[in-house]
Amino acid sequence: MANGQLLTTAVEDEPRESTAAETVLELDGVAKRFGSEDVIGDLSLSVRDGEILTLLGPSGCGKTTTLRLIAGLERPNAGTVTLQDEPVAGDGRFVPPEERGVGVVFQDFALFPHLTAHENVAFGLKDWDEAEREERVDELLELVGLADHGADYPDELSGGQQQRIALARSLAPEPEMLLLDEPFSNLDVDLRVEMREEVRRIIKETGVTAISVTHDQEEALSISDRVAVMNDGDIEQIDTPQQVFQQPESRFVAGFLGHASFLSGEVRDDHVDTALGHVPREDVHGLAHQYDGSDVDLLVRPDDVTAFPTDESEADGRVVYRRYLGPTVLYRVELDGGETIACMHNHSDRIDLDERVGVRVTADHELAWFPADHREGVDAETDVTPAGAD
Ligand code: ATP
Repeated sequence: MANGQLLTTAVEDEPRESTAAETVLELDGVAKRFGSEDVIGDLSLSVRDGEILTLLGPSGCGKTTTLRLIAGLERPNAGTVTLQDEPVAGDGRFVPPEERGVGVVFQDFALFPHLTAHENVAFGLKDWDEAEREERVDELLELVGLADHGADYPDELSGGQQQRIALARSLAPEPEMLLLDEPFSNLDVDLRVEMREEVRRIIKETGVTAISVTHDQEEALSISDRVAVMNDGDIEQIDTPQQVFQQPESRFVAGFLGHASFLSGEVRDDHVDTALGHVPREDVHGLAHQYDGSDVDLLVRPDDVTAFPTDESEADGRVVYRRYLGPTVLYRVELDGGETIACMHNHSDRIDLDERVGVRVTADHELAWFPADHREGVDAETDVTPAGAD
């Protein structure tokens, strides 16, 4: 392994759900402007003790600015930031970064090239008693699996090892909170997956509260206890990875977290009538009777539907796109009514381009849905599904 050690700690295959823990960070109505550009509008956010929260969103939506506001590297134009019940920004107060008890892991790791790994980790411990400092550095090097690399300089370490040292350096002064800005973007693809698990393990072992920033959905879903999906300077939804993926509250969130196709239909008594037949009402999340007779769009992800070659009499559409992805193949089927649905199949299934196919909804979970009258030209903020609400 590139990092010289095997993972010895069992890694959860699903991030656990945060329980009701104490709030350690609160942003209330925070706004940030650069010149005439409103980068953060009116952002409120609570972070719980010991959780890993990831800010996820497209480039330029304000993730890094939010992280910098928390760190004290930017001052808000409005709103307040409260850390451990202490106001640190807003209402005329501003506590500088070095007094906030927050550690930051930068995208490029920002290790000091002229210091060894050991000296890098010890950097923030200048005020510590020497024996305690040595003990703490050894403990951190052990935690990140680099006990044998303390004498190495950064350019003698692999990318993953440099990241471990950057993490150890930030954790050494026992911060209340750890902020990670695109922590995996400097690593090659294979290492990223390994380091996600390692970083989660290390953070969980120390118990520190962590806020990470990324535009990579898979990374956010795999390392976080909760994900805050950001769009245009605001949070669209904040919830567990499973909830934001399976029950997105807006079309933006649905589309940002993986492929999303929308299957239109009309709500009837016990089903939704769609181009693919009747979808039973109990298979649609929280579809209240007040929507009976309304047009809705069901969210179907590629693994929620299956296409199969069939006779013309049973066909629903035609394969218009096929992409081989190794283990899976992604198809797009244009339905006869004009809608396009994406389907993901095992690589061994082969359907030809232009082939006529039937399509079935085969999801084994409740589908999310959106009111059809919010289809186009709607401000994302108002485009919120009332799924689950009466
Ligand atoms: P990315 O994923 O590309 O890093 P992001 O979501 O982290 O994007 P930010 O870096 O927070 O986005 O930037 C949000 C917007 O604010 C961008 O339009 C950016 O150009 C602008 N911006 C950020 N910092 C400054 C600054 N110091 N001065 C002027 N504009 C800035």
